[in-house]
Amino acid sequence: MARILLVEDELELARLVRAALEQAGHTVLTAYDGPRGLAAARSERPDLVVLDLMLPGMDGLDILRALRRETLTPVLVLTARGGEIDRVLGLELGADDYVVKPFSLRELVARVRALLRRVEAMAAASRVEDHQEPIAFPDLVIDPATREVRSLGRAAQLTAREFALLWFLAAHPGRVFSREYLLERVWGTETYVGERTVDACIARIRKKLGGPGSPADRLVACWGVGYRFERREGDP
Ligand code: CA
Repeated sequence: MARILLVEDELELARLVRAALEQAGHTVLTAYDGPRGLAAARSERPDLVVLDLMLPGMDGLDILRALRRETLTPVLVLTARGGEIDRVLGLELGADDYVVKPFSLRELVARVRALLRRVEAMAAASRVEDHQEPIAFPDLVIDPATREVRSLGRAAQLTAREFALLWFLAAHPGRVFSREYLLERVWGTETYVGERTVDACIARIRKKLGGPGSPADRLVACWGVGYRFERREGDP
């Protein structure tokens, strides 16, 4: 069971959500405004954040953006606005899932459970990374042992850096990573390179994978944030 941070300013709703999550066996920390929510996310390192988008003090989208720069913590967004733009923006900014208000507590608990399972699967994928097992999608195979990439069956020759970036994104399909984060993970912190470096590297990988219409399309730029590797039907 997980430690969950709930950031929600509506007291009654927060109380109900908290009770439902606790009944499902989770430990719940609650923050009632944006700045406290962000501070708690930083200091408490929860396993998952349930984040309301309309908050006093700091907009939920700003919190989401800040969290995405700093952590891999999964975020489930609650939105009352319900507009398509909010949902899309929330997902582009790196929310892992969203629920539109009003929602049933049962649905919320189920979504939290599903998200935690996905995170667990991701952690398992990272362990595979240690064992140097290939990642195989129907259209793309990435093998760290031989550093071979096959895009639609064709071998693609990637540099070590390009390989590392593709590997990292593909090992976490569906997750959005900021350029800053990718720089730190793939380039390391010792050398300063600008964020454009990531864009340039992505462009080279895309070209080598076959350009538009090829598995290159899985490398998706997320406006204002960074990149994600697109999850598709039929993926393992
Ligand atoms: Ca609210």
